[in-house]
Amino acid sequence: MYRFSRQIFMQVKDAIDPHPDTIPAAEARRRVLRACEDTIERLAKDPRYFPKPARTLFQEIRFYFPITEQARVYFTIEKTIKIAHQFIQDEIERSGEGASVPCRATTRKGKPCQRTPLPGKEYCPSHQHLEEPVLVA
Ligand SMILES: [Zn+2]
Repeated sequence: MYRFSRQIFMQVKDAIDPHPDTIPAAEARRRVLRACEDTIERLAKDPRYFPKPARTLFQEIRFYFPITEQARVYFTIEKTIKIAHQFIQDEIERSGEGASVPCRATTRKGKPCQRTPLPGKEYCPSHQHLEEPVLVA
């Protein structure tokens, strides 16, 4: 996943030029890289609840770039995040297929239950009692 944040960073790092009264360029580079990593990480964790990742990241780091570079920086971020987002979506779909193992329980008619298990569980809502840990006295 970090190859996306690295990709953004590599394309914008040479333009990093913080105001001389603020922080040294090396520190600005560290912050930009960190912001890129945080954004990609957050995007990977919950892409659906991260509505405008490119804009969010840009707002966070734009101050480290001269005004003349900001448009290019924004487009670089947007382009790379779009690719990252697509990659993450594909991953989710792929792992979703792998995880679509039906409920482990057997119905009263003796057939395997076909329902979808609860997230992170092996049983569906009707059979979740089967998953309760056995209490040892
Ligand atoms: Zn079931």
